Amino acid sequence: MKVYLDGQFVESEDAKISVFDHGLLYGDGIFEGIRLYDGCVFKLEEHLERLEYSAKAILLEMPWSRQEISDAICETCRINNLKDGYIRLVVTRGKGSLGLSPKTCVSPSIIIIADHLSLYPAEYYEKGLEIITVPTRRVNPAALSPAVKSMNYLNNILAKMEADRLGYIEALMLNDQGYVAECTGDNVFIFHKGKIMTPPFHAGALRGVTREVVLEIAEDLGIPVIQENMTRYDIWIAEECFLTGTAAEVIPVVEVDGRMIGDGKPGKVTGQFLTNFRSRVAKEGTFL
Ligand code: PMP
Repeated sequence: MKVYLDGQFVESEDAKISVFDHGLLYGDGIFEGIRLYDGCVFKLEEHLERLEYSAKAILLEMPWSRQEISDAICETCRINNLKDGYIRLVVTRGKGSLGLSPKTCVSPSIIIIADHLSLYPAEYYEKGLEIITVPTRRVNPAALSPAVKSMNYLNNILAKMEADRLGYIEALMLNDQGYVAECTGDNVFIFHKGKIMTPPFHAGALRGVTREVVLEIAEDLGIPVIQENMTRYDIWIAEECFLTGTAAEVIPVVEVDGRMIGDGKPGKVTGQFLTNFRSRVAKEGTFL
């Protein structure tokens, strides 16, 4: 496998960055996870826009144009003969001194890895996920905005570990006020009384690309959307619950905190969203 690293294609074992890179030393950098479906990079422009917003928010000046990054992504897929897979785009602050200040970092580094994807096993789509609320709270937006897809994922990793230790595959994270924020790598939705509901960005949800697609699908299906603060109670009494993310797509949740959601089976409306989502994937994006 060849990895794109600062303008060059290098074998994966030779793809190395400096131990002085502030991405490694401080998690000072940003990233995107993107899907390739049948030779089409799904929603590439949307991912690159979010990357630009993340860069702007952390005052990281990227010396590459959107077109250059887009071309490099497509070339990385082509060079690896990849038609379906997952693309990890990482931009670090670059090499600097041991101090915190990024002033010593002269040029950011860009890494693009395109590989096969390990999805949630098919049985989770058929049976639905069981998830649990964990004690670790989502970072307060005033400390570090969860809208920034930064290399600081420790908050989510700790939450994921808490769930894993209790035997759950995914964790529901609340914000510091106790409202539902999102899961460790996915946005969360419920369906109840003909409407879908998802937490607003200010509650600590990432501006998920899949979340946006689901909102478009809701409009097409004529299903009203509520983006308001949500509590666990809203989930417990919901008819359906599902998560959305680049890797997960749309995945049903049938149990939260040991409580059955709806009738304990993946919901019909969730199924409609998943089918509709899958019908869009190889059409809406950038062809290699
Ligand atoms: N929330 C978090 C914390 C994430 O890391 C992700 C991406 N895996 C998402 C939500 C979903 O975003 P997207 O649909 O853009 O993948």
